[in-house]
Amino acid sequence: MKIQAKPKVGFYGISGCSGCLLTVLYEDCFLELLNLVDIKSFPFIKENNYEGKLDYCFIEGTVCFDEDILTINKLRERSNKIIALGSCACFGCVPSMGNFRNKEKIMSFVYPKHNHLKETPPTPINRHIKVDYHIPQCPPDKKEILEFIKCILTEREFNPTKNPVCFECRKKGNHCLLEDNKICLGPVTSGGCNALCPTNKTVCYGCRGPNPDANYEAFFKMLKKSKHTNKEIKDKLETFAGLAFKEKEGDSSKWLEK
Ligand code: SF4
Ligand code: SF4
Ligand code: SF4
Repeated sequence: MKIQAKPKVGFYGISGCSGCLLTVLYEDCFLELLNLVDIKSFPFIKENNYEGKLDYCFIEGTVCFDEDILTINKLRERSNKIIALGSCACFGCVPSMGNFRNKEKIMSFVYPKHNHLKETPPTPINRHIKVDYHIPQCPPDKKEILEFIKCILTEREFNPTKNPVCFECRKKGNHCLLEDNKICLGPVTSGGCNALCPTNKTVCYGCRGPNPDANYEAFFKMLKKSKHTNKEIKDKLETFAGLAFKEKEGDSSKWLEK
């Protein structure tokens, strides 16, 4: 019987907080991965990272600078499959709020000493290179990362849930935070996190991105009926996946102005 070689896998980060990579390191996820794949590159723990071809390349972070574009283009050339890891890589996450705020103010506040860096609008990696798989969430769930690896090893389709966060939330019997007149994005956000935030009595901020089947118009109508302003709703939508929510319907204001 021919023994299959373990796939060559690399982990990389561009502009991000390293939380996604640390998630892989924590809670035995990394040890389990070591048994399944050949990890060639990993920031923090490999002294000499590999420069050759990769079967699977995980990228964390948002494209915020020209340097990030160069990095991901090189990774694309070297890799058979690219995986956007975490909300930053999938949607732009918190840095992408820069698209909806005063850019100069943000840059001088966040990077007062690094103005040699050439800023580019904060965007998810799929706006710059072809991405084969997305594993969202801020930070991503280690179980989902392992499930992805097991799928590729057994040639099964990686099939994250199509249900919204509300589905998992109701299944857990949580009290609905909309009843407390809070803006919870659970009805319009893709599930897969087991309703992590509402289970901990915090509203969903949409970090797993827009749910393709959600009824956005009905949701916004309901929020506006509860006297929430357009600004309050937009601020919430723009926190983690604003660009993706906008893309979903061309422009989120289209729903909000009605
Ligand atoms: S997705 Fe969250 S944890 Fe990952 S790099 Fe972005 S901010 Fe950090
Ligand atoms: S708390 Fe949020 S996620 Fe849970 S059922 Fe209500 S709207 Fe949906
Ligand atoms: S409940 Fe919403 S914000 Fe919280 S982890 Fe799930 S998708 Fe992200």
